[in-house]
Amino acid sequence: MVRCRLVKLRETARFSTICIHAGQVPDPSTGAIITPIYQTSTYVQEALGQHKGYEYARTQNPTRAALEANIAAIENGKAAFAFASGMAAEGAVMTLLQSGDHVVVTDNTYGGTYRLFERVLRKYQLDFTYVDTSKTADIEAAIGPKTKMLFLETPTNPTLRLTDLAAACEAAHRRHVFVVVDNTFASPYVQRPIEFGADLVVHSTTKFLNGHSDSVGGVVVATRDDHIEWLRFVQNAEGAIIGPMDAWLVLRGTKTLPIRMERHNANAMALAEFLASHPKVTRVHYPGLPAHPQHALASRQMRGFGGLISFTLGSLDNARAVLNNVRLMALAESLGGVETLISHPATMTHASVPADMRQQIGVTDDLVRVSVGIEDIDDLKEDLSSALATIS
Ligand SMILES: *Cc1c(COP(=O)(O)O)cnc(C)c1O
Repeated sequence: MVRCRLVKLRETARFSTICIHAGQVPDPSTGAIITPIYQTSTYVQEALGQHKGYEYARTQNPTRAALEANIAAIENGKAAFAFASGMAAEGAVMTLLQSGDHVVVTDNTYGGTYRLFERVLRKYQLDFTYVDTSKTADIEAAIGPKTKMLFLETPTNPTLRLTDLAAACEAAHRRHVFVVVDNTFASPYVQRPIEFGADLVVHSTTKFLNGHSDSVGGVVVATRDDHIEWLRFVQNAEGAIIGPMDAWLVLRGTKTLPIRMERHNANAMALAEFLASHPKVTRVHYPGLPAHPQHALASRQMRGFGGLISFTLGSLDNARAVLNNVRLMALAESLGGVETLISHPATMTHASVPADMRQQIGVTDDLVRVSVGIEDIDDLKEDLSSALATIS
């Protein structure tokens, strides 16, 4: 038997240390420093009713358990549950509700979230009201006797509007409404909603947490015992679990989350400043710019301002010119990887949002979004600069 000195984190461990070590100990059977990919469907029991806590892999898997403990610590929650995708994680969270319940939702939430709520969950008599949650008074006005959940996304995709998390959570809790925050866009390096009062955090781990554009997954982080008990039950009952290979990839990703986010933050800030001073660009959305209407809130609530920027170019033709003429940046949906992606929200990520609603939330046809990667900033600037020069 190999004896291992297990890594025990002190209570005072800091963020980068938590990212690398939380939830992980050297493998007890070999001492392997990295949690193995437990690619198994079942576990042999020593005798009837005697086992090591693992019976069947939908219910328990050690690689998944390590990831869940890791992300729970990273988000400062009590427990986490990992799913096959961000949408599966959101689907699980929504089973905390019952038919007849009402949810208040950030109006320009992720397109897939809107589709889940409107096209699937309305069939089960759940009701949704979309409001500009950057105005706490609008949240309060939308809460009624049937409201059970406030579902927030901040910053929003793709116009980077913020919600004041502390104020929103206080307003919701006063009315006994629990708060879910989709923290995918910011990542827990930039923002930790539980510290502002959120009850639950959801992530698409596909994005910054994994960070390398090579896995799809999701996670729910919970703080309340009743939520934890239900989520553990429903993760097994519905079975939309993350597989061990993807759990392992995300665990590899979270180890470098802090240094990746520092570079995402720095590159996005530099690119936002470059675009803000460019004559062909009509408007830049980035919370790090002093001109952003919620720059002060961003400075209070976020550590750095994240890796996403969006900007307008005056017309669809101009947007098309830039999208078709970048060479380093890849024209693709998704975000949060080490490589820079550029996209057209109106026809890509937000195509399922009705046109009038797109206008209302600022997803105009001339809007371009960039998920700024961690390449050399001068190469990114040169790429955008030459693409912008093709606008006639
Ligand atoms: C990508 C994304 C999701 C959905 O996650 P998947 O892993 O694609 O299912 C949810 N919310 C936000 C903000 C996202 O960016």
